[in-house]
Amino acid sequence: MKTVESPSSLILLFGATGDLAKRKLYPSLYNLYKKGQLSKRFAVVGVARRLKNDAELREWVKDSILTYGESENEKDLNAFTSHFYYQSHDVTDSASYKQLKTLVDRLDKEYELGGNRIFYLAMSPEFFGTVAEHLKEDGLTDTNGFKRLVIEKPFGHDLQSAIKLNNQIRKAFDEDEIYRIDHYLGKEMVQNIEVIRFSNAIFEPLWNNRYISNIQITSSETLGVEERANYYDKSGAIRDMVQNHMMQMVTLLAMEPPIKLTTDEIRSEKVKVLRALRPVDKENINKYFVRGQYDRGVINGEEVPGYRQEMNVPEDSNTETYFAGKFLIDNFRWAGVPFYVRTGKRMATKSTKIVIQFKDIPMNLYFKSGSNLKPNLLVIHIQPDEGITLHLNVKKAGQGIITTPIKLNYSTSSVDGMNTPEAYEKLLYDCLRGDATNFTHWDEVALSWQFVDEISAVWENEPANFPNYRAGSMGPKEADLLLEKDGFSWWPIIDE
Ligand code: NAP
Repeated sequence: MKTVESPSSLILLFGATGDLAKRKLYPSLYNLYKKGQLSKRFAVVGVARRLKNDAELREWVKDSILTYGESENEKDLNAFTSHFYYQSHDVTDSASYKQLKTLVDRLDKEYELGGNRIFYLAMSPEFFGTVAEHLKEDGLTDTNGFKRLVIEKPFGHDLQSAIKLNNQIRKAFDEDEIYRIDHYLGKEMVQNIEVIRFSNAIFEPLWNNRYISNIQITSSETLGVEERANYYDKSGAIRDMVQNHMMQMVTLLAMEPPIKLTTDEIRSEKVKVLRALRPVDKENINKYFVRGQYDRGVINGEEVPGYRQEMNVPEDSNTETYFAGKFLIDNFRWAGVPFYVRTGKRMATKSTKIVIQFKDIPMNLYFKSGSNLKPNLLVIHIQPDEGITLHLNVKKAGQGIITTPIKLNYSTSSVDGMNTPEAYEKLLYDCLRGDATNFTHWDEVALSWQFVDEISAVWENEPANFPNYRAGSMGPKEADLLLEKDGFSWWPIIDE
């Protein structure tokens, strides 16, 4: 593939000592550097409190790449980290932004960066608004080049807080300068959804309510809440996973073909899907949506505690660690086709997968005893496996005409030399080149909060009968009933 170098730029990274920077951002930037996709004229300014100087940050970055990335070459690594600078700075302290501006202006001249600036907020969301306001007030956004703000999730806690945050950052950045990260949009197979749909004559004509009976999206984790209880207990699965990643996958599966593959056209089609989502009345929330919280159980042969026994979780926590829901999209293409979505912690396996189930043909001539006829499925494996599987029926080899189901499988790991880059690497590269397609627009954020807030409002005021699923299972039985009522069931996630 032809390597395209991104424009010269300065990356100002708030949260330079954090977990995200260490595990994802430094290894991703280094990969871009090695591939020649990062301009030779680049500089990174790391902002945090715990380190003292440039040398300490450079060691920190090296250590992160050696631990989480790939590097065999010490000289290369030294050359890369020589572009890193550090400022010890408390983001709530107004005085230090002046100093930061002096450093940034100096590096801009030294590296001939043309005033191009990326402000990456890899820190707790409580600081997002303050930092954005200071960047403007203290002149860091006064530049002749481009200025872009990369902002991590969560974008608000509900619609109201998201509006407040958006108003704060919009004082300093225009909408087209804001890159709201949803790292699912950087995943290889999530990006592949549009390609599978819009470049294959055999799928797009069938991609509607005449031929599809239901779509199932599962994102399951085996991990529990780990050390994140302080954040997670106020968020729960619906805010942590559904409002962003799950709803983004729904939009990509359901959108109309855009007239062009431009950021604006794609976003506009995704927004239409969110506008067509059928709102559910308060009285019916528990009919369409199921919540769960894990109890103790066994995962990979090891006993694990229930959610309420985890560190920093209140004994009577009403927070859901599992969500399942039936989404209906009221438009011509999808009227009557349920999109079933589920996600949870401490489930039987770690997997993100989409199953598109096609309708049975009107009269199947092979529907007779001995035949094993299964619905046609298209399975999109998002993670940890990446690929697609098409489930078909064929004749069973041998005497007589009886059928048997088979699977046509494509897996990226089986393609020689294919090493798909990390989502963060792709998203950083997109941002450096000014391509915002795989980031979420404000309209998408607002509409998905609006939808999710209706559900949270009911659940927050009704104590649940938790815990209601065993760690190591696939969730509460009510989630199975949700599909059984419609005559469907979840397709197995393990051994698909
Ligand atoms: P983290 O490990 O807690 O890191 C927070 C960073 O902010 C540290 O570098 C900390 O540095 C800095 N910081 C905290 N208070 C500060 C202050 N007052 N002034 C200056 N710096 C301050 O958090 P994280 O896990 O990296 O997450 C960062 C963001 O990414 C969050 O929005 C999170 O939701 C999102 N995110 C993270 C992941 C992940 O894999 N970790 C995945 C998806 C999204 P000092 O303590 O040295 O000051």
